[in-house]
Amino acid sequence: MNPSPPTQIVYRNINKPDSHTLSVYQEGGGYKGGVLKALAKTPEEVIEEVKKSGIRGRGGAGFPAGIKWSFIPRVSPRPKFLVCNADEGEPGTCKDRDILRFDPHRLIEGMIIAAFAVGAERGYIYIRGEFYRESQRVEQAIRDAYAKGFLGENIFGKGIRFDLAVHLGAGAYVCGEETALLESLEGKKGQPRVKPPFPANVGLWGGPTVINNVETLASIPDILEYGGAWYAKLGVEKSTGTKIFSISGHVNRPGNHEVEMGIPLKTLIEQYAGGVRGGWDNLKGVIPGGSSSPILTRAACETVTMDYDSIAKAGSMLGSGAVIVIDKSVCVVRALARISRFYRHESCGQCTPCREGTGWLSQIITRIEAGGGKPGDIELLEELCGNISGKTICALGDAAAMPVAGAIRAFREEFVYHVEHGRCMVE
Ligand code: SF4
Repeated sequence: MNPSPPTQIVYRNINKPDSHTLSVYQEGGGYKGGVLKALAKTPEEVIEEVKKSGIRGRGGAGFPAGIKWSFIPRVSPRPKFLVCNADEGEPGTCKDRDILRFDPHRLIEGMIIAAFAVGAERGYIYIRGEFYRESQRVEQAIRDAYAKGFLGENIFGKGIRFDLAVHLGAGAYVCGEETALLESLEGKKGQPRVKPPFPANVGLWGGPTVINNVETLASIPDILEYGGAWYAKLGVEKSTGTKIFSISGHVNRPGNHEVEMGIPLKTLIEQYAGGVRGGWDNLKGVIPGGSSSPILTRAACETVTMDYDSIAKAGSMLGSGAVIVIDKSVCVVRALARISRFYRHESCGQCTPCREGTGWLSQIITRIEAGGGKPGDIELLEELCGNISGKTICALGDAAAMPVAGAIRAFREEFVYHVEHGRCMVE
């Protein structure tokens, strides 16, 4: 057991040579403290510990993990399942990928604990198809864990069964949505299901299913080892623990950084990512939680902190923690044209507001960007966003509308200039 709690949790092993191997993971205390403490408790006690930690899902939705686990019925006529969402499709996000390739055993240990807590005997790690090398690392780690008796029948000699397998997706963004992911896992077209019923009751092959993100599950071993109360002291109220932020764009040192939640955005950019290219005054705005989150202006970036409440108050979302830094060389209309094209391409087409709306948004913004903007276009975009948001089966509709509405709110003058002059303000 590691006697002193670490300040880095999920990433604490990844800089060690051969960090992906079982021997390095075990030398660092893996498969000892967290999982053994969990298996010595009752499943209800494990769920309580995770609830106490306050950890919220790190995939983007931010739903408390312990509460999600408690929704799974204790007794079920159908088998229960645990699914790890390793699709990581949100543009700007690249944190789970590092866990998969540099510390897969941390994820496996977290999954063993989660499966025990909810009573699942089978688990899947759904990895996007492009992460082929990562999937090979995870598969090797699973084989090694089976060989040691950490997976399979009678794990750790405790009379419990847990089987784990990798499933490769085909790279559709919408398969990061949990019910589309389940459809894909069942071998069907990856299209979101209408909810309710929710996966906790009717999930994979109709069985109760918990779906958690890679980072969430990789945080679980330390929560069990050092206690939920310890974890809850990290970060800030309602946004506890640490979070990995993927910082990209116009910074001097882009990369993934694990820090306590609640860190000021300015500190994250200046101290961890080497500052904005050309200095802080050259900052135009920041997309704080992946491409679906509304852009924050420089004024908002001065004071906002990286936690759910602060970012929501500033008018955006923490999302998956993908921080995209944009300097003054960028035309917001052009950037938005690219983002809109992405969502148009990724719409699964089931519901009309998303299928048609994402196409219209993309076409109008592309036309404005190309110099063909017309009076009334900006108001039309706003109306379209209102007709998409909250009116679709899954959140992809909102994901397409929110960046458009947010960019118009924050940089309206750029859109007006584009429409009136047929060209970009920053050129
Ligand atoms: Fe498909 Fe879009 Fe409807 Fe989601 S919102 S189900 S992606 S059409």
